[in-house]
Amino acid sequence: MRIVYLNGAYIPENEASVSIFDRGFLMADGVYEVTSILGGKLIDFEGHALRLQRSLDALDMRNPITSEDLLEVHRELVRLNEIDEGMIYLQITRGAPGDRDFVFPDPETTEPTIVLFTQSKPGLANSPAAQKGMKVISIEDIRWGRRDIKTVQLLYPSMGKMMAKKAGADDAWMIEDGFVTEGTSNNAYIVKGNKIITRALSHDILHGITRAAVLRFAQEAQMEVEERNFTIDEAKEADEAFITSASTFVMPVVEIDGVPLGAGVPGRVAPRLREIYLEESMKAAI
Ligand code: PLP
Repeated sequence: MRIVYLNGAYIPENEASVSIFDRGFLMADGVYEVTSILGGKLIDFEGHALRLQRSLDALDMRNPITSEDLLEVHRELVRLNEIDEGMIYLQITRGAPGDRDFVFPDPETTEPTIVLFTQSKPGLANSPAAQKGMKVISIEDIRWGRRDIKTVQLLYPSMGKMMAKKAGADDAWMIEDGFVTEGTSNNAYIVKGNKIITRALSHDILHGITRAAVLRFAQEAQMEVEERNFTIDEAKEADEAFITSASTFVMPVVEIDGVPLGAGVPGRVAPRLREIYLEESMKAAI
């Protein structure tokens, strides 16, 4: 049984419970982060801790934990649950004021709720899906206008995954005003020749921690990076496509809306970037 962290205590998962008045439950008033673990160490921890603070600030929510203590909790959960490869999920909500009200509770009297738990995923880095590549469909992006805040409002992304599954695909890329925003839980890229094209950062997409690292490594490897909008039709004609996220790292996309990209198998750039990302981020893991 897993040991989880809830509001300062390490407890068995079946003893961890949160109030029915918690605003995360009633209003999706919460933010989250997912940090991957490779070789028992945390990947990109600092980036995730910084983005967590940014999400909290954007929602005027108090951070109940210092980043030193947060690192300690991550490490302790990895140790207690003997995780070699996997993820740590972290969620902070505005807490449980004792009743339902649209008005934010007084932060002086309502403590935020903080929960962390591990997910063991042996073989995460050597995923067979990365060899095969994934299929995506396109769907309309009907999410709210602050997708840069990592909130727990994940119903539409979850519906998008179900639409993909129903269509025999692995994930969905979302389209707004004709342009691809991002995947349901990842950032989206196309490759043309030696050029990597991805949407620029704004309120329209999540500022992926993996995205930042991968674009930096790509530039260091003399690959050209262009941050601009692209359409789904442009994507279908690209040489390659891929996604990035903390839990998938870099994953090639081999089919969009039933149209195979190139030869319909992973190309040259995405597998190379995956290799570089895994190598460099494991070196920097803490
Ligand atoms: N975009 C969305 C909508 C996401 O949910 C995620 C991750 O959950 C990402 C992008 C990738 O972000 P990161 O690389 O920080 O995991």
